[in-house]
Amino acid sequence: MTIRNLQLPSEIIAKLGVPQIEDIVEKLPINPQNSWARLAGVRNVNDLTTIALHHDAYPKANTTKYTDFQLASNMAIDHINNTKYDATGEGGIPYHIWIRNGRIYQTNDILDRTYGVSGQNGYTVHICVSGEYYKTDVLTDADSKALCAAILMVKSVLPNFQAIKAHKELNPTDCPGYDYKKIIADVLTIENQLEYAKSEEHAKAVAFQIANQILYLANLLNSADTSDGNRIWSREMLLQLQPFMKERGLL
Ligand SMILES: [Zn+2]
Repeated sequence: MTIRNLQLPSEIIAKLGVPQIEDIVEKLPINPQNSWARLAGVRNVNDLTTIALHHDAYPKANTTKYTDFQLASNMAIDHINNTKYDATGEGGIPYHIWIRNGRIYQTNDILDRTYGVSGQNGYTVHICVSGEYYKTDVLTDADSKALCAAILMVKSVLPNFQAIKAHKELNPTDCPGYDYKKIIADVLTIENQLEYAKSEEHAKAVAFQIANQILYLANLLNSADTSDGNRIWSREMLLQLQPFMKERGLL
């Protein structure tokens, strides 16, 4: 089993004005000796309960010369060359989702165990926004919306989801630097609004269905081609509405 090619539902794209997620897992450099799966293993989706929020701590002033893909590749290579945890290096970029310039990239299989938060990688999905938000950078509106969309997307594929946590809540660090409590509050607001829109839409669809059926019956009753049986049937069906409509002052 893999969880690849996450695709945002159209209502999230419409609501937040974010572009569709791009899966670049296969395009990024991976450690030829050790993929994340080989180095650290693959998790069961039922064990993934927590979304961990990160920044990548690369100050934007130092990275403007790179395209998104170049920067993600550079980060992957930095991690592959890091032999702190294993003599063969890390698997590649440690985040499952990485965001930059308002765009959302899937950078690992959600099930792969990567090194996002030391000692806490058996149950976490790592979502990262590029930049250094503790000292230098400010989260843009586009990145903040992309982050909310990514959180909602990941949440929807985790059957046992429990919480969104900042990296710093799991381990002492400055990551993610940005106001993660506001992001979590925004996600809740968006979820509620989407739920409401869904119920509104459903109610409207049912109302139109009723109106269409009544029109159909009226047309059947009126049509010159209709057999007598059909004419009687449609008339009876419509007449059954009479007590209800009278009671509500509609007749
Ligand atoms: Zn972090």
